[in-house]
Amino acid sequence: MKQQITIIGAGLVGSLWAYLLKKKNFDVVVYEKRPDPEFQPEQGGRSINLILTSRGLNGLQMAGLTEKILPLTMPVYGRGIHQKNGDKIFQPYGRDKSECNYSVSRWELNKALIQECKNIGVKFHFEHSLDAMDVKEKTLSFGTKKVNYERLFATDGAGSIVRKALAQLDAKTYQESVDWLDAGYKELFMPVNKGMESGELHIWARGTHMMMGLENLDHSYTMTMYLPHKNHEYSFEKIKTAADVERLFQNEFKSAIPFMPNYLQDFLNHPVGTLGTVKFSKWNYKDEIALMGDAAHAIVPFFGQGMNAGFEDCTTLIKLIDETKDLNWSQIFETYNAKQKPNADAIAEMALENFVEMRDKVADEKFQFRKKIESVVEKNFPDLYRSRYGMITYTLIPYAVAQQAGLKQNVMLEQLSQGLTSPDQVDLVKAKQMLETDFNPWLKAQGYSTDRFIAS
Ligand SMILES: Cc1cc2nc3c(=O)[nH]c(=O)nc-3n(C[C@H](O)[C@H](O)[C@H](O)COP(=O)(O)OP(=O)(O)OC[C@H]3O[C@@H](n4cnc5c(N)ncnc54)[C@H](O)[C@@H]3O)c2cc1C
Repeated sequence: MKQQITIIGAGLVGSLWAYLLKKKNFDVVVYEKRPDPEFQPEQGGRSINLILTSRGLNGLQMAGLTEKILPLTMPVYGRGIHQKNGDKIFQPYGRDKSECNYSVSRWELNKALIQECKNIGVKFHFEHSLDAMDVKEKTLSFGTKKVNYERLFATDGAGSIVRKALAQLDAKTYQESVDWLDAGYKELFMPVNKGMESGELHIWARGTHMMMGLENLDHSYTMTMYLPHKNHEYSFEKIKTAADVERLFQNEFKSAIPFMPNYLQDFLNHPVGTLGTVKFSKWNYKDEIALMGDAAHAIVPFFGQGMNAGFEDCTTLIKLIDETKDLNWSQIFETYNAKQKPNADAIAEMALENFVEMRDKVADEKFQFRKKIESVVEKNFPDLYRSRYGMITYTLIPYAVAQQAGLKQNVMLEQLSQGLTSPDQVDLVKAKQMLETDFNPWLKAQGYSTDRFIAS
């Protein structure tokens, strides 16, 4: 008889996971609190575009869905930084145009993944919100309806009910920490126009606050504005009226005004989203329950990796299912936990660091100079060097290893930048020697190379 799998949450991770398991011939049932997206209009102001990178692409490739999903995306080749004086700088992400990220609407991606699941026979119960569960009895409660499960995957997002049930069951083993960021976000919209360069992540970085735009298929942009919640002139607490919003845009984001005819209404009508980091000390309960995606490790969005990390949970688990003899779930879950948790902790830290980088440092001259030095090293030694950003977005090097590699690179770049006034002055002989004798042997010893992951 086919093994029964129950999944809570048909978000991005739950729907990809359901697809992968169904392809492995499991009997998959998914409970989702929202209505079926097939019959729903997109909820404007709440969708947010996402950046899909190597780990996300790897998940889609393992599912055989790359060809179906890539046409829903727009390539992003680098950051277009809009300065306060109206100037604009372009910072490429990769070594050349073949290295890019992909911008995709969360709504369209989720809807497409759910549709693909339906096509292969995954069973969905929409408008089923898990209210409570009994871990010992293996029962789930959706209002008055109770169902049993055999094996449960929790992909119910950052506010996971399953995670809370485990924490209640055994507070010593299952410790939860939730750190809210003092900044939140609002979605705005930039309609189709000819003034914005295509293929860029447009950023208006202003120290404590910023706005960014990701391109849609029709060349419109879904914008996200990040502001502190309070204690600042430009905080959600202070920007309440039309006059406040106008002042914010006139003073801080003036160059975007001609392209955003509805910025006032968007700002006043759209909700403020909260951002935080969720950590959980153990992601499985015996061989019965595993947590995945944001339910296990929600992170702030400033490395564009939350969904990508969740898709990596899927690829890690599917490999373990393939490799583990006799489908020993206990072993699969324990190994998954041991392998992925350090990576989730690493990307959580790096995402917080990137908040400061995007908000603050991106417009800072010293930071830009260092980026230019790094770009010279990367261009001259493409086989020997890849930036930490590049390792995270273009390779499958585990996040924890990329984090350590980044620390090594910082030391090296600091040494190479000393006393320079122009990036052309970089001592390339010294750089090569450092890469050949230190960085690369170290990376190799960890079992990795800087090779790019190419989705097919
Ligand atoms: C502003 C912003 C920008 C981001 N940008 C990026 C990016 O560029 N790249 C990237 O990789 N990540 C990004 N992320 C992170 C990404 O959105 C999340 O990591 C990703 O959505 C996690 O997927 P998930 O399936 O684990 O959780 P979710 O997407 O939250 O899905 C959870 C699902 O569970 C359902 N659910 C919840 N509770 C219940 C319940 N009790 N019963 C039944 N169903 C339930 C929900 O309705 C939902 O469908 C961003 C996040 C934000 C907020």
